[in-house]
Amino acid sequence: MLILDSAGAVAALGVGTVLAGLSPNSRIFGPVVRRGPAERVLYLTFDDGPNPAATEPILEALAVPGVPAAFFMIGDFVRRFPSVAQAVAQAGYGIGNHTQRHPNLVWLRRASVEREVGEAHDAITEVTGTVPTMFRAPYGRYTPAVHRSARRRGYRIFGWWVSARDFERPGSEVIRQRIRAHLRPGAIVLLHDGDGTDAFGDRRQTAAALPGILRDAKDAGYSFRALSELARVLPRVHG
Ligand SMILES: [Zn+2]
Repeated sequence: MLILDSAGAVAALGVGTVLAGLSPNSRIFGPVVRRGPAERVLYLTFDDGPNPAATEPILEALAVPGVPAAFFMIGDFVRRFPSVAQAVAQAGYGIGNHTQRHPNLVWLRRASVEREVGEAHDAITEVTGTVPTMFRAPYGRYTPAVHRSARRRGYRIFGWWVSARDFERPGSEVIRQRIRAHLRPGAIVLLHDGDGTDAFGDRRQTAAALPGILRDAKDAGYSFRALSELARVLPRVHG
């Protein structure tokens, strides 16, 4: 009876731990940064590119007001669209690792996780000439193996505070409103210049929403800061 009870308790703990790992940005297995210091600053991030139709209009929208941003890139797309990835790097934006093929890492064996992180690391480094120091898992899902692979390469792991869920393509005005409603000091903002399952995903709404998002932030007294600056000041976790 005692054995059965213990086994049951262990099984329950196991399920709970897995479920915790399944919720986006969970920190149960290690640090996942969702906000910077509580100052009137925001950190813009774009996931799932590079994307030939979407990344460049987004770069243009950022360039005129001179707003910094970080792009978490998929290694496979970096290889397919090297000139787009290089344009991001040459414009001085931060580049992060978002795995090679954008799987849900929770369901992969440790060796496959290592391959996803490592191949994207190599693709970004070789194509852009920039060694990435920032990592974000697809869907924000982490396991101990993901943290281990990221730590091995000295990455800081970044989640997000507010997501516009622009992948739903709800219209540029809704995307803008979703961000405006959740602005907080130090918030990391998640938008998408690509689609994890479609190399040519349509992100015109995101590009169209950007000028309004930047204006709303400015009107509310926020300025934008580069996520790479936050990466630099965070303690490096070795393992
Ligand atoms: Zn993604």
